[in-house]
Amino acid sequence: MLAARMHEYYKPLILEDVPVPDIKADEVLVKVTAAGMCRTDVQLLDGYFRKYVESSFPLTPGHEIAGIIHKIGSLVPKNSGFEEGDQVVLVGGWGDGTCRHCQSGNTQICGHGAWPGFGPYGGYSEFLPVPSRYLIKVDKRLKAEELAPLTDAGLTPYRGIKKLRDAGALGPDRILGVFGIGGLGAYAVQYARLLGGGATVIAFARNPEKLAIAKDYGADHIISTKDKSTADIRKELNTACGQGQLDAIIDCAGAPEMIRMGFELLSTAGHYSSVGLVGDQIDIPLFPFVAREYTFHGSFWGNYNDLSEVMALATQGKIRHTVKPITLEQVNENLELLRTGDVLGRAVIRF
Ligand SMILES: [Zn+2]
Repeated sequence: MLAARMHEYYKPLILEDVPVPDIKADEVLVKVTAAGMCRTDVQLLDGYFRKYVESSFPLTPGHEIAGIIHKIGSLVPKNSGFEEGDQVVLVGGWGDGTCRHCQSGNTQICGHGAWPGFGPYGGYSEFLPVPSRYLIKVDKRLKAEELAPLTDAGLTPYRGIKKLRDAGALGPDRILGVFGIGGLGAYAVQYARLLGGGATVIAFARNPEKLAIAKDYGADHIISTKDKSTADIRKELNTACGQGQLDAIIDCAGAPEMIRMGFELLSTAGHYSSVGLVGDQIDIPLFPFVAREYTFHGSFWGNYNDLSEVMALATQGKIRHTVKPITLEQVNENLELLRTGDVLGRAVIRF
């Protein structure tokens, strides 16, 4: 099979012919039909995660995967209802099944977890083995290139906004800011409407084309942050919605200057949910954080149930997509575009 693999840090991926993987008895062999390209893949290549975990090579990136069941292991439970030819999506965070996070369903934060796309097998190849409990069957009529991005870009902000909702931070009298309208943010504005309970949704980004997508996908107001101070933004906010503060923020970017601005704009008892990883530090003043009783939510990827909910929304036709289909041969040039933030929506490899 064809695979685009990483053999060392800081080098382009190598397209090569490798053997189709074997499966264990509790696994399913998935034939990849679409794989989304994530900025995380660039960070993986650039060694962003090295201080937390070292990679071993060769590594096949690609953690946003939709595919077809090609072969089913002998110990896969019959009750799963899986059959060869079924369309499936992958839940990305695979836990070890022993810890309390796994037991409560949050396998994506297991301390001994594994992730497709961060080891030998990933979506940048034609096949990969998957433990059957991390597959969700999806209607065959849904398009693979729209399903694949939903397993991370369309899942991560969903969980992040659920945290705001479950904390009571959203409702008709609240203003919800969506920071960064890249791959994740284009979904976040839609979930802001679906889960916001009537909150006013304001999208913030630098790029006018990305802001136009946010407006199209349901943001009540869009605000460009390019070359603007917090005071400028506060004024615009006031004009747009009658208050110069945000009651909640879903941050799909994670750029240090945006985080600082976000906390300057946060209202008393405001909630900040962080899912984007553009920067690698948070530096905010402590006194307002304490005195104004801010709540900060780290939110990582999503679990099986989060993805099931996203798939239900997709099946109901409630999610819109901005997809740029590409071929596996175009993977390296698109990694470069991701690095500079020059992809509108999601680049998705079609097989
Ligand atoms: Zn675990």
